[in-house]
Amino acid sequence: MKVLISGASVAGPVLAYWLHRYGFEPTVVERTPAARHGLGGHAVDLYSAAAEVTRRMGCWDTIVAARTQLDTMNVERFGSRPVEVDLRRMYAGISSRHVEILRGELTRILYDDRRAEYLFGDSIANLHDDGDGVDVTFESGLERRFDLVIGADGLHSNVRRLVFGPEEELQRPLGGYLAVYSMPDVFGLGNHTLAHFSVGTLVGVYGVHQTGQVRAGFLFRGELTYDYRDKAQQKALLVREFRNYGWKVPELLEHLEAADDFYFDSIAQITLDSWVSGRVGLVGDAGYSPGPAVGGGTSLAVVAAYILAGELAAARSDLPSGLRNYERIIRPLVDSSRWLSPKVMSTVIPSSALMVRLMPGAAAMLAKLPTSLQRLIWSQNAVGKVFSSTALPDYSDLLQPESSQPVP
Ligand SMILES: Cc1cc2nc3c(=O)[nH]c(=O)nc-3n(C[C@H](O)[C@H](O)[C@H](O)COP(=O)(O)OP(=O)(O)OC[C@H]3O[C@@H](n4cnc5c(N)ncnc54)[C@H](O)[C@@H]3O)c2cc1C
Repeated sequence: MKVLISGASVAGPVLAYWLHRYGFEPTVVERTPAARHGLGGHAVDLYSAAAEVTRRMGCWDTIVAARTQLDTMNVERFGSRPVEVDLRRMYAGISSRHVEILRGELTRILYDDRRAEYLFGDSIANLHDDGDGVDVTFESGLERRFDLVIGADGLHSNVRRLVFGPEEELQRPLGGYLAVYSMPDVFGLGNHTLAHFSVGTLVGVYGVHQTGQVRAGFLFRGELTYDYRDKAQQKALLVREFRNYGWKVPELLEHLEAADDFYFDSIAQITLDSWVSGRVGLVGDAGYSPGPAVGGGTSLAVVAAYILAGELAAARSDLPSGLRNYERIIRPLVDSSRWLSPKVMSTVIPSSALMVRLMPGAAAMLAKLPTSLQRLIWSQNAVGKVFSSTALPDYSDLLQPESSQPVP
């Protein structure tokens, strides 16, 4: 069974790994010229169920060793003293197992143990599903036939556009924006994080211990018009929005122009009712992004990729029915993430002066409580809770004897 996966970030490599373990022949096409790796990009979270998937893949310990290692966070607002929060304690309470890791590092680790053919610097130009298989033409001109095609190509998915329709019709903007970039550690942060809240805004800076740099992040509400491919326009827009903000923002903006890993996008959900059509399916952000940075999208991508592979293996040759079973099983998790992310967004980007005033005070109060009580309170964090209570199906009886060598 040949399966083509578009996208080699998180969902794609996890899916390829498990499909290979069940005896499929996966091919992954990725538009970047080489594997994503290393220390660029933002930090993402793996909560319990997703952590368990990587444990079953044998790479959990490597992931833990490559984690961000942030230990404390200053919560700040105008007109009040900063309050320090112990992040290690907080995360221990949020999820029975949790790790924060740079997305590039996670992809590198998943890719290092690759179990698929990878085609870099290419993309699907056209696909035709005739009911028995899918004929694919790549932008490079290559033509191949697959039993199944899966889009794991993220928020701006190519497979979704080709099969399910234009992005604008399938997106629900949550009314916020997100900008992230790397810069020198001008504040001497090390493993420390700064978070400054005001009405409609969160500005954060966190240290990246592997590079000695920091990453600056801006989350804010608004209604903006921009071209998502035009980085210069987006940088100008960020400067316009934050020119007069104060706090440490002038120092952050000084390094914006030089940033070559600048990311800017609206915080939007994908609202498809069904992420399966014949012999084509979507997994991860491509099918049901709950919104970047607010809904546990990485954990959802990992868990869903694991379940998709297992259901395809269980369905054997009836792959379309495997796709439908996958959709049915993960729908409650997708619904929870979609429901939660606007709520998470309204906490991390406070919508009222009262919320802003409460934020450092609540953090200070929490910091003084005994550890057990802190854990209890943090454990109410909804995203962590969803993944702590997700039971992973066991597909181990479907595993094929494997060669331990990764595919070159
Ligand atoms: C700034 C930011 C902060 C975030 N913070 C968090 C967080 O704190 N916690 C968390 O859990 N999640 C966070 N997320 C979300 C998280 O990154 C995603 O949910 C997760 O990466 C989804 O994985 P994925 O594999 O589905 O898609 P992606 O990681 O988006 O990967 C898609 C892949 O497809 C490739 N691709 C795109 N188009 C094509 C094409 N035409 N052909 C071939 N390949 C293609 C891309 O190059 C990419 O490699 C954040 C996202 C952003 C942008």
